[in-house]
Amino acid sequence: MKNYIVFDLEWNQGDTTREEDIGGLPFEIVEIGAVRLNENFEKTGEFSRLVKPQVHLEMHKITQNLIHLTMEDLAKGDPFVNVAEDFLEWCGDEPVFCTWGPLDLPELQRNMEYYNMDPLADGPLPFFDVQKLFSLEYENGKLRRALEYAIDYKGLDKDQPFHRALSDAIYTARIFTSISERIRHNYSFDNYVTPKDKKQEVHIVFDNYAKYISREFDSREELLSDSEVMSTRCYICRKNIRRKIKWFTPNNGKHYLAVANCEKHGFVKFKIRVKKSENDKLYVVKTSKFINEDEVKEIKAKKEKSKMRMKHLTDSNSNHNV
Ligand SMILES: [Zn+2]
Repeated sequence: MKNYIVFDLEWNQGDTTREEDIGGLPFEIVEIGAVRLNENFEKTGEFSRLVKPQVHLEMHKITQNLIHLTMEDLAKGDPFVNVAEDFLEWCGDEPVFCTWGPLDLPELQRNMEYYNMDPLADGPLPFFDVQKLFSLEYENGKLRRALEYAIDYKGLDKDQPFHRALSDAIYTARIFTSISERIRHNYSFDNYVTPKDKKQEVHIVFDNYAKYISREFDSREELLSDSEVMSTRCYICRKNIRRKIKWFTPNNGKHYLAVANCEKHGFVKFKIRVKKSENDKLYVVKTSKFINEDEVKEIKAKKEKSKMRMKHLTDSNSNHNV
């Protein structure tokens, strides 16, 4: 039986301008709050625990303004490992994690790794980013709103203080259960653990786009010459399709774009984002989606513009040499 675990973390941080103050753990979790829902989205439990700090013993001023906890409060908490073990056991069978935004899952795993706990997953972990689902359901899918905004938008009761883990989890659960089934298909992946080999790579087709998460690579050159990464396949008929606009980067390698044409299904836009994995290797997230002829023209214009910029760059460089 599936359990939806809507959780929220509060964390304290070290002074990030001083390497020695980070102590191997930039963000130390000080509170875990969660709501558990069954397969019918009915609430079956609450979890709320404070963690006694072991790395950052002073409250950072950013944290102080954000969370409503003092060091005296936290002193009553338990060591992280105890709290995290109890939490994971409380999650029950087949936990499906749900959080407001993508930051809580990696932070949880970073804290677990710091204390040598077993990883949550051996590859990309599917989860629900409720902040993203809210945007897909009620806005344009791109905006990212604060949790309080979403609660106001839905006209829900603000009967709990914000920025305490359990109350934020309760609010997030209220938004999550308001999301329609049609939108709820759009789950996300947490890539704290990236695929180590081809077998672990993720290929997934959503309603109107497809996603591929590659294995790790040592270098950008290696990644950009990999046939799977650079392939342009129609995600409906799975055929390799002819490229209409060859791969280019509009922004110095932050991402790469290409367009190909499937004779049967139309133009497909491919976008590769190069990302750094937790262990300092590189991997890509490639998305593909169908576009119309106008969008093909827009991408073509983008490519021309980036060519001009490149030319301009090389011209001004050579001017310096004169
Ligand atoms: Zn096709």
